[in-house]
Amino acid sequence: MTSRVPIQEIKSDNRVCGTCTACCDGWLVSEVLDMRPGQPCRHRTIEGCAIYEERPEKPCRTFSCSWLTEDFPLPESARPDQSGVILSRLGNWGLWPVLAATPTGAKFDPPTFDFLKSFCTQNNVAILCVELEMIDESFTGRGWQKTFGPEDFVSALRSGDNVDALWELGNRVGRV
Ligand code: SF4
Ligand code: SF4
Repeated sequence: MTSRVPIQEIKSDNRVCGTCTACCDGWLVSEVLDMRPGQPCRHRTIEGCAIYEERPEKPCRTFSCSWLTEDFPLPESARPDQSGVILSRLGNWGLWPVLAATPTGAKFDPPTFDFLKSFCTQNNVAILCVELEMIDESFTGRGWQKTFGPEDFVSALRSGDNVDALWELGNRVGRV
């Protein structure tokens, strides 16, 4: 186990968080930890999580980082602090696994969007992306979503169907 902050138990034999702290930096929301976009968890230190053994169930123990744990062919370069996107499994849409894509900032850089789009088409993975409205580095509580995946997934989420169910499945940054 790395001494850096892992928001979850390390489950991969091959990957460790290393210097990444993306999931403790405020891009996942927790009222208990007073963590929100623009404001990291108050227990995050330069050496890692100050309360690792006592960290709360949500989001710390339930969050599952796809780069670290999933059996998807995510490249090394997709580590969240390097790629600018935290990917986590939301569930399934038919036969398609669905990943939530949360930017490590208000918005995705164009290359990150390109990566997500090509990852989706090459691996038959549906992706729900969220971007945030930030004013003066504060999250307003509003944002936008963008989807990649099969046509019915894209059109259903565009029309608003099933959005609530997907939100409830994940550890999202906020409601859009
Ligand atoms: S308590 Fe804070 S620093 Fe510790 S794992 Fe959870 S989010 Fe990260
Ligand atoms: S986002 Fe993933 S790789 Fe980065 S610290 Fe969290 S669990 Fe580790």
